[in-house]
Amino acid sequence: MNDKKISLDITFLFPNTMSTYGDSGNVLALQKRCEWRDIEVKIHYSDIYDSIYPSNIYFWGGGQDKAQEVVSNNFSQKKLDFLIKEVENNKVFLLICGSYQLMGKYYIDSNNNKIEGLGILDVYTQSSKKRMIGNTVIETNTKLNLEIKKIVGFENHSGQTFLGKSIEPFGYVKLGFGNNGLDKTEGALYKNIIACYQHGPLLPKNPQLTDYIITKSIENRYGSGININKLDDTLEYAAYNAILNRLKI
Ligand code: GLN
Repeated sequence: MNDKKISLDITFLFPNTMSTYGDSGNVLALQKRCEWRDIEVKIHYSDIYDSIYPSNIYFWGGGQDKAQEVVSNNFSQKKLDFLIKEVENNKVFLLICGSYQLMGKYYIDSNNNKIEGLGILDVYTQSSKKRMIGNTVIETNTKLNLEIKKIVGFENHSGQTFLGKSIEPFGYVKLGFGNNGLDKTEGALYKNIIACYQHGPLLPKNPQLTDYIITKSIENRYGSGININKLDDTLEYAAYNAILNRLKI
């Protein structure tokens, strides 16, 4: 990395109301992989009644139907307008499960309640009788151009998500259910939004995706041409390969 001092702001959205299955570990992974590269990183937290600090990366985790309903019912127009502007300005978003569903048009929950979504992603979700749980292996969309294309994760959702025409999938299911257990797609990509059903947390054992998010956010803030140095990922890929071997993928 050249000698330019790089600093990034990361906002963890709804850290208390919506963060399940270790999702907060994604913020830690981003923070550590920045600090190990001497990139200054500030973490901000914004829950239901908090304003949102303008940031370079936004992380939003999963949640039970009830929590999603609370967030949806208390989402101010001011916050929605701000997030729409940030998405259009290519800020980087990582959305896991329940937040992915809420960024869509709506989520019909397991009690058949229609939970209004923010309508930022051209997707909709409806709850199914079958809960989609288990380890996952996803072949990521070539659009992300990740050096190591497969990611490993864990999913636990009843919602089946269907993508609209303007949305590309984050990837394709090698193992697991993905978006809906039917069309083999998983997650969604729109501008610099990466949305998926991958808990775990996702990033610690998929460092190639963490570095993609850091690189994209630096590019968005400072322009292109700043490469981040490689880290020693022996431990991360030991975990990654152990999972692939155990799952015989
Ligand atoms: N409540 C949603 C569902 O069941 C999301 C679950 C989650 O975030 N893990 O599909």
